[in-house]
Amino acid sequence: MDYYLKNYTYSQLKDLLKNILAKDKSNLKEDFFNYRVDQIFNWIYKKYEDKIDNFSDLSKNFREFLKNNFEINSLKIYDTKLSKYNDSIKFLFKTSDNEYIESVLMKHPQRYTVCLSTQVGCNVRCIFCASGINGLKRNLNLAEIIDQLFLIQKYIYMREKMRITNIVYMGMGEPLFNYENLIKSLDIFTHDKAFNISNRNITVSTSGVVDKIYELAEEKFRVKLAISLHSPFENKRQKLIPLAKKYKIPQILKAAEYYFLKTKRRITIEYILLKNITDTLEDAKELVNILKNYNFKVFINLIPYNSIGNIYLDNVLLEQSDNESIIQFYNYIKKYFEVNVRWSLGRDINAACGQLRRQLINSI
Ligand code: SF4
Repeated sequence: MDYYLKNYTYSQLKDLLKNILAKDKSNLKEDFFNYRVDQIFNWIYKKYEDKIDNFSDLSKNFREFLKNNFEINSLKIYDTKLSKYNDSIKFLFKTSDNEYIESVLMKHPQRYTVCLSTQVGCNVRCIFCASGINGLKRNLNLAEIIDQLFLIQKYIYMREKMRITNIVYMGMGEPLFNYENLIKSLDIFTHDKAFNISNRNITVSTSGVVDKIYELAEEKFRVKLAISLHSPFENKRQKLIPLAKKYKIPQILKAAEYYFLKTKRRITIEYILLKNITDTLEDAKELVNILKNYNFKVFINLIPYNSIGNIYLDNVLLEQSDNESIIQFYNYIKKYFEVNVRWSLGRDINAACGQLRRQLINSI
């Protein structure tokens, strides 16, 4: 039996209770188990309650049974950093085995978005990312993915009575390398007895794990897909994203096209703007050229680089593009595709992925 209640989807928890309780109570009906799981889900995911003693509509015996067998929270909030612009909060969580992971709450007027991590560290090792520098430690389990949203939701509900409306899987780790837990977490986030977040408000971002993109297209969750492309040139992309050696640009875009045709969700292309590396007019032209070959609706997110220290690519220091280059790049792309410049919220709190965790690790 798994220790944390959040390690179970609705149907898994029902099956578990059936297995345990039906042994000596074989006359129990399906409705009994549905009702019990409804109650548990209601306390945890609707009321954000994390003490089993407070599940007041459960019998004392059933509460004792739950207390003897389960925990509610798998993570603890270790630190929070509020942006001075009040547009984001960064959360550093501690796991039960003393690892640290990060999530960010981003506040927009009409929506509250949480950026979730799926792994401790990352083995994709993008050279511009703090999360990949020390490689992968382990996958997060389901409860740890769910807890990031749960604890942030509880935190913000207590202070602002706001609910999280959107999720992006863009924090630490490659979500498609933790596929099983990604899918189960989508089950809980979208379940009407749990968070009930619309799948059109959820984005899974990948560095381009081709076989898993095809698999995701076959799932019932029609979530949005974002592809971290970062360069239209294979050689340059391979230097920026070492994993790119395994999955080539045409394979990735073909998979994205398949995902679009199956789900009808537009594809977001994530593109980091690095001064004199990925931000030239030549880069913009080639980006348009390659994307024109595919049959999908595309939205391009241009991301000005957030420095994580002195890192070089072919002797060129990774730096944020100047405004002129950003505008030139944007203006060229906008003639062909929908495009946006995503100034990352909370730059004053190191909101780029993995930076807070890295600071902490460096300080201990
Ligand atoms: S950008 Fe994403 S995929 Fe790349 S190393 Fe960082 S966490 Fe991993």
